[in-house]
Amino acid sequence: MIGSDLFQGDKVGDTRARFIDEENGGLERGLRESGLIPRLRHAGRGSADRSDIIVTGGRGIGSSGNFRHVLELAEALGGMAGATRAAVEAGWIEYEYKIGQTGRKVFPKVYVACGVSGAVQHLAGVQAELLVAVNSDPDAPIFQLADYGILGDVEKIIPLIIHLLNQQA
Ligand SMILES: Cc1cc2nc3c(=O)[nH]c(=O)nc-3n(C[C@H](O)[C@H](O)[C@H](O)COP(=O)(O)OP(=O)(O)OC[C@H]3O[C@@H](n4cnc5c(N)ncnc54)[C@H](O)[C@@H]3O)c2cc1C
Repeated sequence: MIGSDLFQGDKVGDTRARFIDEENGGLERGLRESGLIPRLRHAGRGSADRSDIIVTGGRGIGSSGNFRHVLELAEALGGMAGATRAAVEAGWIEYEYKIGQTGRKVFPKVYVACGVSGAVQHLAGVQAELLVAVNSDPDAPIFQLADYGILGDVEKIIPLIIHLLNQQA
């Protein structure tokens, strides 16, 4: 579900996510109509001493080469990057970036979780006003909590979000 349907209160299963996928005009249209891009840009204008937006990469990012997309999106938003334990253990990013029960605790306005399943040990470190999840599995637990759920491949969606941010700048 995307577009106007999405904002008339439709839910995916029991989730509270505004769900954006390839249906009904595609991801780009869904993202444009969702209102997410301006919200991301607004959150990125945080204060100098505190990042109001964190973009986290999980195992679904797939490789250290792909992890640069996470860093690029964080930078485009004026935010910071984070990682799950799986991404850290894969060696894609330093330990200091790990968020969760045994990592950093973060309190951003917006948390963008990319290729992250939503394990309790990870989410134990996250307290955010708005949770955005990008995941290729419609049954990923993180969609149960996300305010915006974007279904698809991170390799495609992160560059698309950056593109839309640049376009609407
Ligand atoms: C005692 C203990 C402490 C722990 N502490 C922490 C901690 O502090 N922090 C932490 O993060 N974890 C911690 N863990 C580990 C935690 O339980 C999870 O194993 C971990 O968080 C999973 O990381 P992940 O979401 O990146 O990986 P996964 O659970 O493997 O999820 C990867 C997700 O990526 C999606 N995906 C795959 N390919 C793509 C694609 N191309 N595009 C989009 N999505 C894709 C999949 O659908 C999946 O949902 C701890 C575990 C224990 C037992």
